[in-house]
Amino acid sequence: MDISSDQLDVLFSAEDLRIRIKELGAQIEADYKDRDIHVICVLKGSFPFLADLVRQIKHDNLSVDFLGLSSYGNETKSSGVVRMTQDLTIPIEGKNVLIIEDIIDTGLTMHYLLENLKTRLPKTMEICTLLHKPSNTEKEVDMKYVGFTIPNKFVIGYGLDYAERFRNLPYIGVVRQ
Ligand code: 5GP
Repeated sequence: MDISSDQLDVLFSAEDLRIRIKELGAQIEADYKDRDIHVICVLKGSFPFLADLVRQIKHDNLSVDFLGLSSYGNETKSSGVVRMTQDLTIPIEGKNVLIIEDIIDTGLTMHYLLENLKTRLPKTMEICTLLHKPSNTEKEVDMKYVGFTIPNKFVIGYGLDYAERFRNLPYIGVVRQ
C-alpha cells in the first residue's frame, strides 16, 4: 500500500504531544528527585519523544544512551522476533534506568528488551512509553509512564514509521480508511 500524508487523520497534534510530554516530564522529575536517571532511548522510533521529553525534565544527573531494536514482521504487524541493531555504549549496572519507547503494542519487543537489560544488573528499571495499544497485548509489561492509551490502529508520525517513511511528521496520525 502506498500512502501520502494527506491520507492521514490527526490522532495527536503537535500541541497535544507537547502538553502531555510536559506532564510526563514533571512526573518523572518528581519521581527521580533524589537519584540519577539513566535514560535509554529505543531507536529508531523514540528519537523525537526522547528529545522532547528530556528537555522537560529538570535534573542535574540525567544521562542518555541509545539502543537499536528492530522487530521482524511486515509493514504493520510485529512478529515478536526482535533483533538488536545497536547496543548501549554505557554500562547500566547500578543505574536507575528509564527506558523510553515510542509504542508498546503486543509487548513482545519490550519483554525481550527487559529480559536482556535485567542481566546487566541496573539498580532500578522503569518504562516510559508514549503510546500503548492494550488490545493486542501478548506479554504483560509493567509501564510506569504512559503518554496515551490508543485503540488498535496503525499510527504514523513523530518517530513512528510506515516502511521507514513519515518519522518526520510533527504529529501522530492514522491512515484514513
Ligand atoms: P510490539 O513488540 O509491542 O508488538 O511492537 C513494538 C514495535 O512495533 C514498536 O516499537 C513499533 O516499532 C512497532 N509498532 C507497533 N505498533 C505500531 C504502530 O501503530 N505504528 C508503527 N509505526 N509502528 C508500530
